[in-house]
Amino acid sequence: LIQLYLPLNFLGFVYREMKQGLIDMEQMFTLLRQPREVADAPNAPALKPGPGALVFEDVRFGYRPDRVILKGVSFSVPPGRMLAIVGPTGAGKSTISRLLFRFYDVTGGRVLIDGEDVRGVTQDSLRAAIGVVPQDTVLFNDTIRYNIAYGRPGATQEEVEQAAKLAQVHDFVLRLPDGYDTRVGERGLKLSGGEKQRVAIARTILKDPRILILDEATSALDTGTEQEIQAALRDVARDRTTLVIAHRLSTVVEADEIIVLQDGLIAERGTHGALIAAGGLYAEMWRRQSEAVAMAEAAAAAQAAA
Ligand code: ADP
Repeated sequence: LIQLYLPLNFLGFVYREMKQGLIDMEQMFTLLRQPREVADAPNAPALKPGPGALVFEDVRFGYRPDRVILKGVSFSVPPGRMLAIVGPTGAGKSTISRLLFRFYDVTGGRVLIDGEDVRGVTQDSLRAAIGVVPQDTVLFNDTIRYNIAYGRPGATQEEVEQAAKLAQVHDFVLRLPDGYDTRVGERGLKLSGGEKQRVAIARTILKDPRILILDEATSALDTGTEQEIQAALRDVARDRTTLVIAHRLSTVVEADEIIVLQDGLIAERGTHGALIAAGGLYAEMWRRQSEAVAMAEAAAAAQAAA
């Protein structure tokens, strides 16, 4: 597996142009005070506690009436399992996560969490049940402690440290000039991509959502960091229902099911092994990525030799 992650690291460079917008939606929401497209139903109850079963049932959606993005997408993710969504840029991968958060309402079909339609519960309770680890985390101009505790306002210092330890960022924080009181963000200490991601993972561990969205966007981390992050992500995803929005194919290999979106429909579905054996779209995407990796490696080797 390690051998697989190593070459895949190059894909961040190769597919940089694939960058698309599932930035940290929770933060974007708070920061921009984005007007809500949808409102809570009158007297809507909070989402009831549950194990985190996720169902998309014949979901149809378009941002505009004249352009349908999802034309009937169905899948179900049992509690604790992982589903990966792959497909070309613009296929609607991020749209699926936006519908799960109910930033928009579906125009047909249903989105269910533990049997409840997301349109029937409060948005606050819905968003508390879902955590996102984006590839490019935007930190608040505040302390490290604030940035982690944002996952669960009111968390104690012990809880913050426990989450930081699990995300393997605690030792790093202790080496900072003011420890957990060190100010970070654009106007504070700038953290590397890998450090920021670990803060995002700590925040998500603290939030403890029943459903996790991993947005595997673009940014290329160095190989060692990439492997550490993958390990931390695997920890946080364990026993949690996980949706991987895969702009490249690194964690996809381990998913319980992979769906390939194309033209608003699921073109293929199965495990990595089954899809490779089927020799269809997914196998072709995999082959092209492997070639791109080989080319990037050859170029790097040539550069090192020069
Ligand atoms: P993916 O994540 O697979 O790259 P997206 O789900 O982000 O694709 O986008 C699917 C399609 O919807 C794209 O054609 C995109 O241009 C369009 N789209 C995304 N967001 C919006 C929006 N807010 N308004 C209108 N169209 C959008």
